[in-house]
Amino acid sequence: MKWTIGDVTVTKVVELEMTGGSRFLLPQATPEAVLPIAWLRPHFATPEGKLIMAIQTFVVETPDRRIIVDTCLGNDKQGRRIPHWNERNGPFLSDLAEAGFPPESIDTVLCTHLHVDHVGWNTRLVDGKWVPTFPKARYLMGRTEYDHWIGVPDRPDMAHVLGDSVTPIVEAGLATFVETDAELTPEISLIPTIGHTPGHVSVAIRSKGEHALITGDFMHHPCQIAHPEWSTTADSDATQGIETRRRMFRELAGTPVLVIGTHFAGATAGRIVRDGDGYRLDA
Ligand SMILES: [Zn+2]
Repeated sequence: MKWTIGDVTVTKVVELEMTGGSRFLLPQATPEAVLPIAWLRPHFATPEGKLIMAIQTFVVETPDRRIIVDTCLGNDKQGRRIPHWNERNGPFLSDLAEAGFPPESIDTVLCTHLHVDHVGWNTRLVDGKWVPTFPKARYLMGRTEYDHWIGVPDRPDMAHVLGDSVTPIVEAGLATFVETDAELTPEISLIPTIGHTPGHVSVAIRSKGEHALITGDFMHHPCQIAHPEWSTTADSDATQGIETRRRMFRELAGTPVLVIGTHFAGATAGRIVRDGDGYRLDA
């Protein structure tokens, strides 16, 4: 699946799609609460009101850069809280190559934040060592985000994630720490969308008068467009997360900005439009 924004193309490569089982993540999104949001079907919810979600990456090609935004779960990782995220052996890298993006061709890796499902393919296991998957890339990580997680001692799950997917990149000298509003290229810049994590960013794309936004996790599922007050259990600061969603929807509603959802399954992208007192995604 590909989108064109002026001179920029964005290609989606999926690692995993899931139906249901999201109650741990979005406890307010019960089937009874999801069913009345008719526009979620068929891409984002089942007829029974179960949420459909994806773990996926986006390759952003500008006239002179090839950027991979978020690197999913990865293979062979251990210490993950969700059992089937451990010791995975999935075809993501060959799927990426088949889509035209062998790892050596990527010049920039961008992590919207440092959670487990956004940094996994930063590294792969070779002869018992975690090595950078994208050897020719600069890996861009938020300075605020990195400083925050390095300073949190009581999260054993995050210690695993940093240890196998972030620290090896820093030690290989491939990491560049960026501000939350950094301009990466004439077409690509970061926008702070804080709340889910302290240094969380979204990715703005602007080219030839066309605009798009890769969300990262300021929302996880389109049901949060109808209900910005629904927070995920993974949010660092739920109140700030709600404020960020309200601000972003207010700014985006009725504009032609193509919103590309990091965990949105199916059509994955659309425009935010007003819907009564609230909003919906026009996918
Ligand atoms: Zn995520």
